[in-house]
Amino acid sequence: MFKFLKLGVLKKGVQTKPYPQEPAVPYGAFIGLPVVDGAACDRCSHCVSACPVQAISLTEEGVEISTARCIFCGDCAEVCPKAIKMSREFELAATSKEDLRMVYRHG
Ligand code: SF4
Ligand code: SF4
Repeated sequence: MFKFLKLGVLKKGVQTKPYPQEPAVPYGAFIGLPVVDGAACDRCSHCVSACPVQAISLTEEGVEISTARCIFCGDCAEVCPKAIKMSREFELAATSKEDLRMVYRHG
């Protein structure tokens, strides 16, 4: 047992990446927040129907995505490649509910 511990279990070292002190670069196939080009949106609401968790809504302001609900599945971008792209953005923590609403205004 003592020999096992001596072999490195108690050795100190860097176990994970030093995030957030240094920026994290997501791996290649990583999918983050959907981003909507409001000018390309014709308000057809196909994205609203496609979203499995009701994270998208169409409002007077534009296309609204709730980052509290979104599971980054990409279904919205699949039904609307002209206006929705999946980004690599993942730093979405917020201190208020209002900040969990992403509104992409119609052009
Ligand atoms: S973002 Fe695309 S799918 Fe959603 S309402 Fe606009 S045009 Fe339709
Ligand atoms: S990525 Fe998925 S969960 Fe997020 S808004 Fe689009 S369809 Fe909804």
